[in-house]
Amino acid sequence: MSAVRKINLWHDVSKKDWTDWRWQFRNRLASVEDIQKIILLTENEIKGFCGQGFAVGITPYFLSLIDPTDVNCPIRRQAIPTSCELIPSSDEFKDPLAEETKSPVPNLIHRYPDRVVVLVTETCNMYCRHCTRRRRVGFKEEALTSEHLDLIVDYISRHHEVRDVLITGGDPLVLSDSKLERILRAIRQIEHVEIIRIGTRAPVTNPFRITEELTHMLHKYQPLWMNVQINHPKEITCEVEHAVSLLADAGIPLGNQTVLLKGINDSVEIQKKLVHLLLRLRVRPYYIYQCDLVECLEHFRTPVAKGIEIIENLQGHTSGLAVPTFVIDAPGGGGKIPVGPQYLISQTPEKVILRNYEGAIFTYPEPKGNKGDCI
Ligand SMILES: *Cc1c(COP(=O)(O)O)cnc(C)c1O
Ligand code: SF4
Repeated sequence: MSAVRKINLWHDVSKKDWTDWRWQFRNRLASVEDIQKIILLTENEIKGFCGQGFAVGITPYFLSLIDPTDVNCPIRRQAIPTSCELIPSSDEFKDPLAEETKSPVPNLIHRYPDRVVVLVTETCNMYCRHCTRRRRVGFKEEALTSEHLDLIVDYISRHHEVRDVLITGGDPLVLSDSKLERILRAIRQIEHVEIIRIGTRAPVTNPFRITEELTHMLHKYQPLWMNVQINHPKEITCEVEHAVSLLADAGIPLGNQTVLLKGINDSVEIQKKLVHLLLRLRVRPYYIYQCDLVECLEHFRTPVAKGIEIIENLQGHTSGLAVPTFVIDAPGGGGKIPVGPQYLISQTPEKVILRNYEGAIFTYPEPKGNKGDCI
């Protein structure tokens, strides 16, 4: 691990505290006054803290990655609000994916046939300015009650088609190991649940959360997959490398879900660098999301063509493992829809015409089916 990175405000914090995830969590910065002790905020940023906006909360660790001289710093833009967040547009929704209408019991979303999402907390280590669930995240800092957990377990037990349970929030890794284990144990006891997934940003927003104790605990609930959200190469520090390698060494398969964000990571160059770094960390790029139609987030949205361009410049040009799927989560709750470059130029019963990543054209004849029965 690298030398511990700290700045003035925290110069007398011990290494023990700084690398303690609970200390990081407890000392999240939320106010203009506190954040100004580290970086000089612009007038537009200060305005972003006013009004009905979305919660602010940043771990000292994540804040320490901000370049104080660059208002476009990708860490800064994900963590610090601006006045843009006060401006709604007519295309937006509080709940763009209609999650609340697909929620048969509180804190559970059942949209797809064979898998459900369980929201185990509404708290995060860092409140991402682009959060899709900002309608419910960041208001109260409490975990799922045991009554709600019972209702969820009961629902999944009665729905034998559910073979995959995604634990998310908020960030499930703000919970203590014992709280999280209580949830995992309850879900693992349901016989027809084949896999459990955890969606978390903790490995980048509070990497000290990933401890040997945590990975030992998670190991007991295999098969368990983890999806992280890393949006920019700058998020990948030595601390993050260490956290992710603990998870990978514990046999937890890792995926990454990136949100495409204007001015932050909307370039082929950045995305290519990111996916290459991820593979070195043993993290498989899984999805790139088009930014959802969440209220007041238009300033983060890119044209759909940008996502397609990124995939076009990865597929074939680099390792297949490095290429995520670009998806748009359909407004109104239709689920994730993959969108990508068109490689199939035409399709008839006799043949398909294809193009490759370099633009060369190929014909693939379909089976003629005139061999008869050979056995
Ligand atoms: C994203 C999501 C899933 C998981 O989708 P995968 O494509 O299987 O990763 C499941 N349920 C809901 C409601 C989701 O939003
Ligand atoms: S960690 Fe996830 S739930 Fe929390 S603010 Fe970020 S995107 Fe939203």
